[in-house]
Amino acid sequence: MLVLKFGGTSVGNTQAFAQVAQIVAHARAQDPNVVVVTSAMSGVTNTLIHAARSAAEGYEQPYREARSDLLLKHQLVAGQLIDDGVERAAYGRLIDDRLRSFERLCQSIHVLGELTARGLDVVSGLGERMAAPLLAAVLRAQGIDAEWVDAAEIVVTDDSFGSASPVMEPTCAHTTARLRPLLDAGKVPVVTGFVGATADGIATTLGRGGSDYSAAIVGACLNANEVQIWTDVNGVLTADPRIVPTAHTLPELTYIEASELAYFGAKVLHPKTILPAVEARIPIRVANTFDPAGPSTLVVPDVTDEGSVKAITAIKHLTLVNVEGRGMIGVPGIAARTFKAVAEVGANVLMISQSSSEQSICLAVPEADAPAVISALQKELERELSRHFIDQVRAMHNIVIVAVVGAGMRGTPGISGRIFTALGEARINVIALAQGSSEVNISLVVTEEDADEAVRRIHEAFFAKAAASSL
Ligand code: ADP
Ligand code: ASP
Ligand code: MG
Repeated sequence: MLVLKFGGTSVGNTQAFAQVAQIVAHARAQDPNVVVVTSAMSGVTNTLIHAARSAAEGYEQPYREARSDLLLKHQLVAGQLIDDGVERAAYGRLIDDRLRSFERLCQSIHVLGELTARGLDVVSGLGERMAAPLLAAVLRAQGIDAEWVDAAEIVVTDDSFGSASPVMEPTCAHTTARLRPLLDAGKVPVVTGFVGATADGIATTLGRGGSDYSAAIVGACLNANEVQIWTDVNGVLTADPRIVPTAHTLPELTYIEASELAYFGAKVLHPKTILPAVEARIPIRVANTFDPAGPSTLVVPDVTDEGSVKAITAIKHLTLVNVEGRGMIGVPGIAARTFKAVAEVGANVLMISQSSSEQSICLAVPEADAPAVISALQKELERELSRHFIDQVRAMHNIVIVAVVGAGMRGTPGISGRIFTALGEARINVIALAQGSSEVNISLVVTEEDADEAVRRIHEAFFAKAAASSL
């Protein structure tokens, strides 16, 4: 059993759809049981979200324009790849229906002047619900018996709208019950990525980029031999190729390396993708839709090659919150209270660093969480602040965490030295530093202006020779 997930660019236009059909046909020649998971066409989720937000702010033009743009975008592919008139008409009715409900939703959002997280999940999930039926029809046009499945029928989630988590037991029961009969009948199910529904049937999404996660969930439930993430790059590279053009493919990565990379901003995999795979020990392959025979990455439980630094990644749009003051020295419990206050506001803390002199604790949090974190800390530490045990709770905006990842780093001395030399030579200031508890990651905080150059310099320090020798 193989689960193949196609990302937005992989279903971005007619050529891409045609390419996907070839990849699916090839996979079926290897294994008769193939499940496809698809994202929305590239740009569609952004368009939907923008339209809904604009409607809440009083603007109707964006959703009206979106409706006609989305119709054109999908119908173009249908017109070019679905020859059968009956099939094409059926898809035409489906897309009309979807877009009508999109317009109705946006009208209500406009009237209410308010967009809830729950409402946004209904709108943002429409992209996959337009792409999956289209892909299934394209596959049928190529002689592959495919049937689209709405993941709301199979992926049962909690109600954390905007980044819901699956409840695995009912999800696996529904996935097996719905997909097994299709597979047994020789069909290829084409499942919508990104979306799910609560046990009460309310629409949810798994978070931006969540189709990777959908594929891993389905793969784990069906005990797939491999989950394949088909995207627009040759697997997981030593750095984002948009920042480091000389980055090269990593043939193998461990689960822990891949999840650290994803967590610290390597967009190629959604950070939660690894979770369902780890439990079921399913390998994940990351490959390029536009270069299917080219290099790819296999993510596995363990690798024999210990290596050293594997990749460098960066997570942007963060705020560093500092709690600082000489009076903190020797006062027990400040750290614990700091973390408790932050946990209570539900903020996602990406890094914690405490100076050894105990004069400061700093936390990196997403920009959007920063105001809530700062006011929670000011409240919790009110007494210490008024007595000047703590000087201030200070925010530093527009910061980036650069993470250097590799399981072999723990046994290799001198890694930090090389990182600091590289940054020092480029006169890049390191604001804070933390070593993840997993020891497969060293994280550095730098300003947004320095971030890309920091990634390039560290990459050069560790991979310049490899890049040169492969020329
Ligand atoms: P998809 O739409 O297929 O899910 P994404 O845009 O979500 O694709 O992810 C692929 C992108 O991830 C690449 O185009 C690349 O710019 C970016 N990326 C960031 N870091 C890495 C990395 N270390 N290796 C590969 N790609 C990366
Ligand atoms: N279409 C969704 C998004 O753009 C999910 C995905 O692409 O994985 O976030
Ligand atoms: Mg993605």
